[in-house]
Amino acid sequence: MIDYQKIIDGIHVTCSQASERGKVAAYIPELAKVDAQKFGIFLVDHNKKGYSSGDWSERFSIQSISKVLSLTKAINIIGPAIWERINVEPSGDPFNHLSLLEAENGIPRNPLINPGAIVVADILVTHLKNPKEDFLAFVRELVDDQSIDFDKSVAQSEKTTGYRNYATANLLKSYGNLENDVETVLDFYFHQCSIAMNCEQLTQAFYIFMNRGKCQRDNTFLTLTQVKRINALMLTCGFYDEAGEFAFEVGLPGKSGVGGGITALLPNQFCVATWSPGLNKKGNSKLGMEALERLTTEAEQSIF
Ligand code: GLN
Repeated sequence: MIDYQKIIDGIHVTCSQASERGKVAAYIPELAKVDAQKFGIFLVDHNKKGYSSGDWSERFSIQSISKVLSLTKAINIIGPAIWERINVEPSGDPFNHLSLLEAENGIPRNPLINPGAIVVADILVTHLKNPKEDFLAFVRELVDDQSIDFDKSVAQSEKTTGYRNYATANLLKSYGNLENDVETVLDFYFHQCSIAMNCEQLTQAFYIFMNRGKCQRDNTFLTLTQVKRINALMLTCGFYDEAGEFAFEVGLPGKSGVGGGITALLPNQFCVATWSPGLNKKGNSKLGMEALERLTTEAEQSIF
């Protein structure tokens, strides 16, 4: 039996003493207010037993981690037709870069970089009756927690400074890969990114990717094939131009967000979430990456 609690406690001790913590995202002004000293970790194993340390119960902005959940909802609704509008190749580029989008005629490289996630948002705006409310209801159902909500001040803050996302949505529109108007799609996208969750709630939301498509209450959300595809995308694209590094150091499918969260999973074994707001140069949580490297090394578990 692997003693996850011992490993996690050790990681927490080291991470709380770290002097190099990276930089809190400041391009969304509201995120810059978050205390860089925070560190939390929560792991749930396949028997639904939880292990935790640090600030795991504090909610933070999940940001790009939400892209995996919006992708899941879009796949639920339109199935493989989604791949007519978005590719499935790693980009090797930062999350908000535009050059590939222009070079590839408005087809985003994958759904986990901003251009791809904005197309996914467009699909949900088209197909959901009340897009924001219905998506939030889906996330609440996944986690089985009605208290999960948007952080409206974060969404508003991003709306006032989201120049690159406006540029991206306009470029998509010019290529005919956005059905709805730019304002409506970005309003949805900024809200999905603003959802606040803690580390435990994130592991509950991502439990389906660890547990063959079923949530903790055993309800089925995805087929095995869909789980395989989404996990493959997390592994190859979940950390943008640091996806190779994450696979190399950690060896798990996962997703990061500029709020400092990371969620990762080992199929059929465990799902884990970390939170440390300081980011490295590629926009991924610095201590979160280090914590997960240590977890898979000490537990001697990874997909490889
Ligand atoms: N909302 C952020 C953005 O679009 C999400 C980026 C991220 O978490 N990497 O810029």
